[in-house]
Amino acid sequence: MMMNKPNIVVLGAGYGGIMTTIKLEKILGDNDANVTLVNKHDYHYQTTWLHENAAGTLHHDRTRIPIKDVVNFNKINFVQDTVKSIEPSNKKVILEDGELTYDYLVIGLGFESATFGIEGLKEHAFSIYSINSARLIREHIEYNFARYTTEPGDRRDLLTIVVGGAGFTGIEFIAEIANRVPELCQEYDIDPEKVRVMNVEAGPAALAGFDEELVEYAMNRLEEKGVEFRLGTMIKQCNENGILVEKDGEQETIDSQNVIWAAGVTGNSIVEESGFEVSRGRVPVREDLRTPDHDNVFVVGDCAVLFNPETERPYPPTAQIAMQMADTAAHNLKQLVTNSSELETFKPNLQGTVASLGHTDAIGVVFDGKKLYGRSASIMKKVIDNRYLLKLGGIGLMLKKGKLDMFR
Ligand SMILES: Cc1cc2nc3c(=O)[nH]c(=O)nc-3n(C[C@H](O)[C@H](O)[C@H](O)COP(=O)(O)OP(=O)(O)OC[C@H]3O[C@@H](n4cnc5c(N)ncnc54)[C@H](O)[C@@H]3O)c2cc1C
Repeated sequence: MMMNKPNIVVLGAGYGGIMTTIKLEKILGDNDANVTLVNKHDYHYQTTWLHENAAGTLHHDRTRIPIKDVVNFNKINFVQDTVKSIEPSNKKVILEDGELTYDYLVIGLGFESATFGIEGLKEHAFSIYSINSARLIREHIEYNFARYTTEPGDRRDLLTIVVGGAGFTGIEFIAEIANRVPELCQEYDIDPEKVRVMNVEAGPAALAGFDEELVEYAMNRLEEKGVEFRLGTMIKQCNENGILVEKDGEQETIDSQNVIWAAGVTGNSIVEESGFEVSRGRVPVREDLRTPDHDNVFVVGDCAVLFNPETERPYPPTAQIAMQMADTAAHNLKQLVTNSSELETFKPNLQGTVASLGHTDAIGVVFDGKKLYGRSASIMKKVIDNRYLLKLGGIGLMLKKGKLDMFR
């Protein structure tokens, strides 16, 4: 009977949320539960492509996918709204335009940029976290290049792009920017010699923890394209003129109107503000992906943290993990709504990591530690992306949005 069906509410249509919803759509019977998906926008986006949108090397319409194209609205109730808070004791979600009650909740609200209290970063630096933020960065850099030729004086700060952080996002973004600069120079009649693309990293190496040979390859390739690395260098402050950095006790100001902070993420602050137990902004979920305190609340993706028992380190916050968590959460929800107490333990199938260095270059470690770089790594990256689209929306979506230029 309709009235007695439990309500499952899924918050966020990122990798974790949308894959949980699609899986529930497939495995739940008509009388098992009502499923509601809540998302800020009427589209899902591939967060892993946002650095390309931000650099302007890929249009953001390739990255976003209307939710109605991949979720069956006859089976799933979709609510386009912004989550303000969660009240687990009342089993309620407060939205900007109303509220929802739930019997079971899945939190998949993704990540936020973490600025570690560095003065002025929140106010003056950009970060890549959504379609809107990526589009803003692209427009901002283009605008500053356009301004350069009209402003009096030699305003090199308009042509200086600083990326904070040489982790995956920082490296992938700076590689796209390095490829984009020649196009921008041509479009805005700017001498490429005047442009500065700089990466500032506090740690002693780029891509900490990644294979050293591949890191060296990446840095060499980027330096050949004009990227200036400042390793072991802390950003101490960011203001309207640029940044203040420090290395070995020596400080230096770098004038830049284009500072992009890509050095850290944390779970969505709504989760902590709603009173859930968190560790560095993420909920330390049980092995079945439920929160420590609530048997009816699951957390997937970047809002969750779970330790890999083999390495005793947390699984990294990645799209790969978010999607695999979605499978476990959906399976366990099916068990709960059909009154089975046997819940599955999350056991990821780690398939390696590939970081892109532009559209035709990449580095990666896949399948049992095999190293890839250059075109073969780039092909692998595109295969991973296309496989995701296939899983999300079938062959039609893959052909429409996929990266099919693999062998060009
Ligand atoms: C530039 C970049 C490159 C990356 N590259 C890779 C990669 O190559 N491989 C990899 O595995 N990982 C990569 N990652 C990490 C990966 O993107 C994240 O781990 C992944 O997106 C986490 O998935 P999620 O479902 O938790 O959240 P997200 O994908 O961030 O989705 C969260 C969703 O929640 C919605 N939302 C947020 N707040 C609200 C609210 N208040 N109300 C309603 N809706 C809300 C958002 O709009 C979004 O749709 C990359 C990240 C970045 C930024």
